[in-house]
Amino acid sequence: MSWKSQLANSITTPEQLATRFGIDPEPLRAVSARYPLRITPHTLDLIEKPGDPIWRQCIPDLNELVVDNLPEDSLNEKSFSPVPAVVHRYPDRALLLVSGQCAGYCRCCTRKNRVGTTALAFSAEQIAAGIAYIQATPGLRDVILTGGDPLLLDDDRLEDILAQLHAIPHVEIIRIGSRVPVTLPERITPQLCQLLARFQPLYLNTHFNHPRELVAASIKACALLADAGIPLGNQTVLLSGVNDDSEVMIELCRGLLKMRVRPYYLHHLDQARGTAHFRVPVERGLEIIAAMRGRVSGMGIPQYVVDPPGGQGKVPLLPENLLDVGETIKVRTNCGIVELPNCSLL
Ligand SMILES: *Cc1c(COP(=O)(O)O)cnc(C)c1O
Ligand code: SF4
Repeated sequence: MSWKSQLANSITTPEQLATRFGIDPEPLRAVSARYPLRITPHTLDLIEKPGDPIWRQCIPDLNELVVDNLPEDSLNEKSFSPVPAVVHRYPDRALLLVSGQCAGYCRCCTRKNRVGTTALAFSAEQIAAGIAYIQATPGLRDVILTGGDPLLLDDDRLEDILAQLHAIPHVEIIRIGSRVPVTLPERITPQLCQLLARFQPLYLNTHFNHPRELVAASIKACALLADAGIPLGNQTVLLSGVNDDSEVMIELCRGLLKMRVRPYYLHHLDQARGTAHFRVPVERGLEIIAAMRGRVSGMGIPQYVVDPPGGQGKVPLLPENLLDVGETIKVRTNCGIVELPNCSLL
């Protein structure tokens, strides 16, 4: 089946979930009315039972509607948006938001307030304005296509955007952030790989969160990309009930290395509204990283990072740099001592 028919056959309503799992759709209606729901047939087949790590990532949960005081734009991205489709926080690199849609909507998404809605669906003119901004900003050496998921664009549209960026002399590298190798592996066709390979140096970072996602179709998708010469990385989010366990993380990272996907970041969860039920204390994340040393090749240990609210950018978290745990967590970093709210108290 083509990737478009896979996508068209996705589950998008609580009623379809009720039919499949024999659950009551009523409580889920309010959640899916607030935040978009999409689960591809591929992801659905990975679910073994309600509440398992795949289920938790994709099935709406009433906890998403718990009234919390977490912000909707937790990273303060608006203040770093010179034009709507660009986020420019670091001097040398910027995000270009090229698609508002994803193959599957992760319940833990930082942009869950906007993803899959018109708020992230930028027009061709807005994306053109984003490219014009990048062209007019010579300090930008690294452009990261994101959204939403850039690989939900048609090949033609993607080619058009990549060709324009590739033609800008100061843009030295292009990166694509995409979860389709996990949620819609059929999207990684030989034609797509040939297209991407024309715009080297081009890196692709994907988003596996659990070893049970490393199944044949995803392994094949990553092999096609790697064979086309696309360096692959992985950004995992530390999620309660999914991967907040050192054995799970070790199995995930060893499996990724076998697939030629280098674990890049382990993200501490952003403080976005509707995601508090996924929160894991920073100390737990540090314990997991400590447990990996000596048991996983160094190149298989991701950098544990947090993006503190307020927008100073990503900060690496290392077990040896933990200074104090109280109402706030104090960590020594190369940007000085950073204080974070203690998530276990939230
Ligand atoms: C994470 C991020 C980047 C990329 O950061 P790297 O550490 O280079 O991977 C760029 N811009 C923004 C706004 C980001 O949040
Ligand atoms: S794939 Fe990425 S952008 Fe899309 S819902 Fe999941 S975390 Fe959010």
